[in-house]
Amino acid sequence: MTDNAVTDNAMTDDGSWLIKGVTVPASGKHGEEPVSILLGSGSITAIGPDLDHPGARILDAGGLIALPGLVDLHTHLREPGREDAETVQTGTAAAALGGYTAVHAMANTDPVADTAGVVEQVWRLGRTAGHCDVQPVGAVTVGLNGVRLAELGTMADSAARVRVFSDDGRCVSDPLLMRRALEYVKAFGGVIAQHAQDPRLTEGAQLNEGEMSARLGLAGWPAVAEEAVIARDCLLAAHVGSALHVCHVSTAGSAEIIRWAKSKGWPVTAEVTPHHLLLTDELAAGYDPVFKVNPPLRTEADVAELRRALADGTIDCVATDHAPHPVEAKETEWAEAAFGMTGLETALRVVQRAMVDTGLLDWAGVADRMSVRPARIGRLPGHGTPLAPGAPGHLTLYDPAAPAEAVTPAGASKSRNTPFAGMELPGRVVATFLRGVPTALDGKLA
Ligand SMILES: [Zn+2]
Repeated sequence: MTDNAVTDNAMTDDGSWLIKGVTVPASGKHGEEPVSILLGSGSITAIGPDLDHPGARILDAGGLIALPGLVDLHTHLREPGREDAETVQTGTAAAALGGYTAVHAMANTDPVADTAGVVEQVWRLGRTAGHCDVQPVGAVTVGLNGVRLAELGTMADSAARVRVFSDDGRCVSDPLLMRRALEYVKAFGGVIAQHAQDPRLTEGAQLNEGEMSARLGLAGWPAVAEEAVIARDCLLAAHVGSALHVCHVSTAGSAEIIRWAKSKGWPVTAEVTPHHLLLTDELAAGYDPVFKVNPPLRTEADVAELRRALADGTIDCVATDHAPHPVEAKETEWAEAAFGMTGLETALRVVQRAMVDTGLLDWAGVADRMSVRPARIGRLPGHGTPLAPGAPGHLTLYDPAAPAEAVTPAGASKSRNTPFAGMELPGRVVATFLRGVPTALDGKLA
């Protein structure tokens, strides 16, 4: 976009950036005056109305907003083991294009990230790729088998400094194991992120249990399978006094249980995915497996309640559950197809459509739900810091007024399984900066 031109000062370039005419959203305020942001030596060195810096490259950011770099608590990077679907390199490139400066990489790789060796491997691959910071999540149980606790302590002490543990993709369904995991991570301030899904109630389940699953003849996935586990885990978190994070909340009832747990002051946090904020099980009518996901798309009433819960803070944050799959895993019969959707490159645009354009959240609220809170929950110091002089130079420049454009499945991700393909979404991520250096510029990899 020529509107947001970059001016080089080749003679005097000292590696700093001056972002001019950008708006920094503040909570409860409207009509903020545009400012300039100066980035140098990895951080924000100044913010003010009329900054100048002779050695800086200048980015004309008129009409753009600046958000602290987005943080994703829930990304499947697929490496090691499924490099045909995604690699750390391609997944983090997709993250940068989506405005993310840090992602948490889920543990259901092959081999599973259940040892210090594997989490350090993923962490190093992230550093080499350089598109965004990669914080590995460790498995709760060995091989995600739900039988024996993994070596949580050695993963925590490793170079990857793991603080979030999850068997995501599977549920830690044994209540005693869940209790022990919560007890274990309490010692070092860790958190157990639960994929809440009762395995017995969801055997063979394909789609949200309701009118739609009955009409299509697909095995139903009852809301209670999610809600029962969340209720149990909230009680366990309270009993142990240790932090529980609920992954991808998908039902109105789940939001209600979390609201109740929070009203008690219990250490519980939760996330919702972009797709659960926008899409419903009606989309399954054509049996297109691009809409097959775990947990499943639910009803319009669920979507409305999830939006409300995110707006009032009951649900703390948006997490993508970016789940890339190769074409052959998705372009098959519904019952045979893999669960999951990509999401990193479209998340912010979906949130604009579902939350901002509906008046439920302002941009300061988006910064809170997509950067500040996920960084806090993910124990990521140095991310999710509100934009101010001295803060790390992680930021996302976004054009909320960019005309709605149809989503194309081709992006930086190796996979194409986006449920938003062809859907017109507003907005555009213009640039992403990591430690003061652009990782994406003019909507392309820098
Ligand atoms: Zn999951």
